[in-house]
This record gives sequence, C-alpha cells and structure tokens, in this order.
Amino acid sequence: MTDSTRSASTAASSAAAPPGRSVLVTGGNRGIGLAVARSLAARGDRVAVTHRTGEPPAGLFGVRCDVRDEVQVERAFKEAAAAHGEVEVLVANAGITRDGLLPALGDDAVDEVLDTNLRAVLRVARHASRAMIGRRWGRMVLISSAVALTGSPGQTAYTAAKAGLVGLARSLAWELGGRGITVNVVAPGLVETDMLRQVRPARMEQYLAMTPLRRAGTPDEVAEAVRFLTSEQAAFITGAVLPVSGGLGMGH
Ligand code: NDP
Repeated sequence: MTDSTRSASTAASSAAAPPGRSVLVTGGNRGIGLAVARSLAARGDRVAVTHRTGEPPAGLFGVRCDVRDEVQVERAFKEAAAAHGEVEVLVANAGITRDGLLPALGDDAVDEVLDTNLRAVLRVARHASRAMIGRRWGRMVLISSAVALTGSPGQTAYTAAKAGLVGLARSLAWELGGRGITVNVVAPGLVETDMLRQVRPARMEQYLAMTPLRRAGTPDEVAEAVRFLTSEQAAFITGAVLPVSGGLGMGH
C-alpha cells in the first residue's frame, strides 16, 4: 500500500465511524474538566466524568473516583464502558496544586502533587490504551500547564509532574501511533477556575505581565482546543503540546 492509498483508506474508515464517541474526562465535575465534558457532550459524544467529591454535574454521567486509587480507576473505566461502550477518548484533566518553595515543601505535598498530576495520569492512560488498542482508534489529551515549560517558583513538584506529561504523551504516541491512537498535551496558561483563585494577587500580576494577551482565559477556551484534538479532523496530530495560554510561555 502506498502512502497515498493508506491515507485514503484511513480517511474512508474515519468517515464511516459513528459520530459520537465514548469519552471519559477525569475531574470533570468543575473547572476546565466540566467545560470539556459539556463541549464534547454538545458535539454528540457520550461523556462520563469522574468526580471525587460531591454530586456529578447535571446532565452528565458521573463516576465517583479518586484518580490516585487504582481500584477506583478500574471501576470508573468499567462503569463508563457499561454506560457508553469502551472509552475511546480520554481527557486526563484532574489536577491539584500545593505550592511552596522546595526547602519548605513537605513529603506529603510532594507525594500528593506527583501522585495526582503524574502517576494518576499514567494510570488512566494505561487503562485507556488497553480499551483503545483493540478498536484501533483513540484520542488522549493530557492537561499539562504552560508553567511546565517556563518553570515557576514555588511549583517545583507541580511543574515536574506537568513537564512529565510531555514525555509520557510522546512515548505513548510512539507506542500507540500504529493503532490509530493519538496522544497530545494541552498546556493552559491562566484560566479562571477555583485553582486560579488560590494564586496570590501579587503573583497573578506577575503571570499577567508574562501573558501577551494580558488576561486569564476561560475554561471554554481550553475546551475548544481539547474538542479539536479529540476530533476526527485531528487524526494526523500526535505528540503535540498545544499551549492555550494567551501567549504565556510561548516558544517553549
Ligand atoms: P479545579 O481546581 O477547578 O478542578 C480540579 C479538578 O480535578 C476537580 O474536578 C477535582 O475534583 C479534580 N481532582 C483533583 N484531585 C483529584 C483526585 N485525586 N481524583 C479525582 N479528581 C481529582 O482546577 P482546574 O479546572 O483549573 O484544573 C484542571 C486542570 O488544568 C488541572 O490538571 C490543572 O493543573 C490544569 N491547569 C489549570 C490552570 C488554571 O489556571 N486553572 C492552568 C494550567 C493548568 P474535586 O472537585 O472532587 O476536588
């Protein structure tokens, strides 16, 4: 098969695919994850969101899950598959910050940040890849951060974990590319969510000064990028890091 006939047959099989996909968004009960979940549901996908606390968001299928717990993650994938079919699109979004300068950062904070932002993403990506390999189609988007690439004082553990997602995505892109599965990273800058409200005003001013568009973005603006990367049309994009940051960290 030549390259051009292979492309044509790939395009034909994509065109024949059903319009809606089975999606799992971790941390989809608020903030960026909720905006992503609503955006993909509006496009016609069958969306499950994990929620660690509280109730699932209205109108979305929720599975209670702490992503740091392998048993809960396994159950979440089973519940999503039972409701919507095997997961075809994973958005690994759940994340936390516990900031502090490294000399004063305790092991508990380091463990929590690395477990949630890196180890748990490996875990959900592993479950998702098992589901996707057999179908020979899949989309994964890992939510990193613009500061993973610039560095950020007080965020050594957070940026280490978020930078780790780039290596994870690119290695997985190599492992799964032959199966029609893409793995990409979205790197948001300042985004108006509960997480941003924890940032001190003086630090916010510094971040805004590093942002050419001079404003924070909205969760919907991040969701647009995720929607594109998980679409049929993004079939030739893998291993990419897409900043959605108003220019914060551009060029990295
Ligand atoms: P929020 O604090 O608004 O939401 C965080 C989400 O992650 C919540 O749904 C939360 O669930 C979930 N979560 C946290 N820990 C766990 C866990 N152990 N198990 C399951 N779910 C968990 O944050 P954002 O929406 O702002 O952030 C979303 C992602 O975007 C994160 O990965 C963050 O690092 C990243 N990001 C955010 C930026 C910003 O400016 N807002 C900038 C750059 C990156 P629960 O409600 O149960 O706590």
